[in-house]
Amino acid sequence: MNSKLLIEKIKKSLIEFETEDEAEAIAFLILEDLFQITRMNILIGKDIDISTSEEEKIESILSQLKKEKPIQHILGKVEFYGRQFLVNPNVLIPRRETEELVHLILENHPDLSEQMIVDIGTGSGIIPITIAKERKHCEVIAVDISSSALATAKRNALLNHANVSFIQADILEEDLDLPKANIWISNPPYVMEKEKAEMQEKVFEHEPSNALFVPDHDALVFYERISQLAFEHLVPDGELYFEINEQFGKAVKKLMEEKGFRNVKVMGDMQGKDRFVFGKR
Ligand code: GLN
Repeated sequence: MNSKLLIEKIKKSLIEFETEDEAEAIAFLILEDLFQITRMNILIGKDIDISTSEEEKIESILSQLKKEKPIQHILGKVEFYGRQFLVNPNVLIPRRETEELVHLILENHPDLSEQMIVDIGTGSGIIPITIAKERKHCEVIAVDISSSALATAKRNALLNHANVSFIQADILEEDLDLPKANIWISNPPYVMEKEKAEMQEKVFEHEPSNALFVPDHDALVFYERISQLAFEHLVPDGELYFEINEQFGKAVKKLMEEKGFRNVKVMGDMQGKDRFVFGKR
C-alpha cells in the first residue's frame, strides 16, 4: 500500500479523538515504528507491504489510542534530540520544550570538556544523556527521587552508550553530597493542582503525578530548593538552567536573584511562552 494513503487512513480513524496535527504526528510515528520507514520515504509515498499481523498491530494500536493511552506508551519509546529513549508510566513523557532547553544549553556551551553537569529530577534521563552524547569529555550526574524512574534512565543511558552517573535522592529533604559543578539543570514538576482541570485526562492518568504536579500553595517549592542547592554546589560563574511554568517567569527570576544569581534571564519557548530561566552564580 502507498505509505501516504496509509497515513491518511490512520489519520481518519483518529480524527474524532485527536486534533488533525496530532493525528498526523501519531500516524507517522506508527509507520516509522512498524515498518522502519523514514519520514522522507513516507512523504514520497513509498509502497509498503502490509502483512496481516501488521494490520492487526495497527488495529491494536488504534484501539489503545482510543482508550486514551499515549502513543509514547504504546510504542514504549520517544525520540528526543534525534535519539531514541524508552518511556513507561514511571517517567514523564519528554516534551518538545525540554528539547529547546537542552538546545539552549548546548548553544551556550559549545565546549564542556572537563566540566561537571548536574541534572535534578532526571526522569527518563533525556537531559543528561543528550548532553553527555553531544559534548565530549564532560562529567554528568543525574538525580531523581524515584528508583523506577532511575531504572528507566539507566536503561536509556545504556541504550545510547552515554556515560552518566545516577543518584537517588529526595532533594527537598536531603542534602546532596556532590562535587562542585559548572552547570545545574532542572525541569522540575511545575503544573499546579488547579491547572489539572484544564489538562487532557490522558496527561495525568498515564504519567507519574510526582513528576507533574506541585501544590497550588507552594508552586515554587522546587525552584526555591534547587536554586539554594545549586548556589551551594556551583563553582563561581557556574550556571543554573530551569524549565518553568509559563506563569512564573518573573517569580523564578526574582527567586534566583534573591539566592545570589546574576544575569538572570527569562526566555520564551517556541510558542512564545516564558519557559526557561537561567543565570550565573
Ligand atoms: N527531566 C525529565 C524531563 O525533562 C523529567 C522531568 C520531570 O519528571 N519533571 O522530561
